[in-house]
Amino acid sequence: MNPIDDQPYRMLIDGRWQAGGEGALFPTYDPATGDVLAQVHAATARDVDTAVRAARRAYDEHWRDTTPRERARLLRRLAALFEREVEKLAWIETRNVGKPITHSRESLSAMPASLDYFAGIIPAVRGDTIPMLNHASVLNFTLREPLGVCALVMPWNYPMTLTLHKLAPALAAGNTVVIKPSEITPLSTLALAALFAEAGFPDGVVNVVNGSGASVGEALVRHPGVARVSFTGGTATGAAIQAAAAADVKRVTLELGGKSPLIVFDDAALDAAVDVAVGDIVKNSGQVCIACTRLLVQDGIREAFQARLETRLAAIRMGDPSDPQTQMGPLVSRAQAERVRAYLDIARQEGATPRSYPDPASRPETARGFYVPPTLLTTADNGMRTSQEEIFGPVQSLIGFKDEAQALRIANDTRYGLAAVVFTRDGGRALRMARRLESGSVAVNTGVRTSVDAPFGGYKHSGIGKERGLEAILENTQLKNVKYDTSL
Ligand code: NAD
Repeated sequence: MNPIDDQPYRMLIDGRWQAGGEGALFPTYDPATGDVLAQVHAATARDVDTAVRAARRAYDEHWRDTTPRERARLLRRLAALFEREVEKLAWIETRNVGKPITHSRESLSAMPASLDYFAGIIPAVRGDTIPMLNHASVLNFTLREPLGVCALVMPWNYPMTLTLHKLAPALAAGNTVVIKPSEITPLSTLALAALFAEAGFPDGVVNVVNGSGASVGEALVRHPGVARVSFTGGTATGAAIQAAAAADVKRVTLELGGKSPLIVFDDAALDAAVDVAVGDIVKNSGQVCIACTRLLVQDGIREAFQARLETRLAAIRMGDPSDPQTQMGPLVSRAQAERVRAYLDIARQEGATPRSYPDPASRPETARGFYVPPTLLTTADNGMRTSQEEIFGPVQSLIGFKDEAQALRIANDTRYGLAAVVFTRDGGRALRMARRLESGSVAVNTGVRTSVDAPFGGYKHSGIGKERGLEAILENTQLKNVKYDTSL
C-alpha cells in the first residue's frame, strides 16, 4: 500500500516505512478549515541516528561509486514518476499548505524539468588539471567528490519544490540524504518518498524523519554522521543551526528570510509593476521568501500606483483553495495567521494605516480557516518594525522616495538581502541599481523568477550559499588536490 494512504503516516528509514520509536504522533492540519488532516509518527533521536547511519551505509557501500550516468538515469526515472503523480501531489500540497490548487499544479508541474536539469548537468561536475609552476614531471589535478550524508531541513511554505531543489543536486553529486520536512506540512514529502523505491534508488539513499525542529531537527543537524546541513527557513533558526553545525565543522547552506523591495521609478511600465506587487502579496498568501513586501514608489506616481494596486486587490478571490477559481487561500497555520494579525496591530501603533482588500467580513466562508486578506500598510516608512521584520504573510508596506540615491538607500536599509525588483525604462539606472543593490537576486522590469538554471541565495541575513544552477551541485561537493610525480 502506498504509505501516504495508510494513516498514521510513518517515515522512511533505510527503505522501510517505520513508526517512531516511542509511538508518539503529532497532528497536521487543513488550513482552510482548521481541522486535523492527519496524524503523523514523530521520530526519536534514536530514529534520527538510525536514519543517518543508514544514509552513511548506503553512501559507503554503493551510492558514492555509482556512475554519473546511473545517477542521471535514476533522477530521470524519478522525474517521470513525479510527472505521473503531479495531480495527487498537488492535492496533498493544497490540503496541507492551503495553496490554491491552480498554484500547486503550476509549481509542481515544473518539477520534472528541474529533476531533468540536475540529471543533465552531472557531467559538468569535474576537476581541473593544473600545470605546476616549478615541477614539470608532477601531474597536478583536482577531484570533485561528494560529501557524504546531507541533512535537508525544510520549511512549510513550498514543501515539495524546495525539497526537490535540495534533494536533486545532493543526489546528483553522489551524496545520500536525510530529509526533515516541516512538522506543519510533512505530507507531500512522505508521498514523494514513496516514489524512490519505485524509481530504483537503493535503500538508505533517501530517508525522511518527521517531527519538530527542537527535537528531530536539532538531533539531525547535531549528528556527527552528517557532513552537510542544507536548511531553508527563518533567519533565527538558520543562525542556531549554523552554531550547532559548527561543533563538527559541517558545511551549511542557509536559505533564510527576506524583506525584498519592489522599486518603481516614475518612468516605469506602471501596470507591469502593479502586476508584480499583486502577485507577491497574493501568491501563497504572501508566504514567499522572495516576495516584495516593501513597495518603494517614486513620489510622482505614488498615488496612481496605489490606486491601481487597490483596484486589483479588491478583485482578488480569497477562499477555498480546492476551488480552481480561488486566487488566494488561507495562511498555513493558526499561529502564522495570529502572527500576521499581530503585525497589523504593531503597524497601527507605529502610525501606518493597514488597508485590507476586500473587507474580510464580506467573505463569511473564510471565517473558519486561517485566512488573512491582502493588506497594504500605507503611510509607512522604512524605519517601522513592519518594514524591517519579515511578516511572512499578505502584507506590503508602501513607502515613497524622491530619487535614485534615496531609493537605493532605503532598499539597502534592511538586514535582509534575498531579492530586489526594479521597474524603470532607463537602462543605465537599472544597471546601476542592479550593481548596488545588496541582494542575491535582482530583477528588472519583471518579478523575481527563481529558475532551476540560475544560482539562488541571499546576501546578509538572508543566507549563505547557493541553490539551483551548477552552483547547487558544487555546494554538494568537496574539492581534492592530487599530485602525482610521473618521473618515478
Ligand atoms: P522555521 O525556521 O521555523 O523552520 C524551518 C525548519 O527548521 C522546520 O523543519 C523546523 O522544524 C526546523 N527547525 C526549527 N528549529 C530547529 C532547530 N533548532 N534545529 C534544527 N531544525 C530546526 O521556518 P518556517 O517557519 O518553516 O519557514 C518560514 C521561513 O522560511 C521564513 O523566514 C522564510 O523567509 C524562510 N524561507 C526562505 C526561503 C529561501 O529560499 N531563502 C524559502 C522559503 C522560506
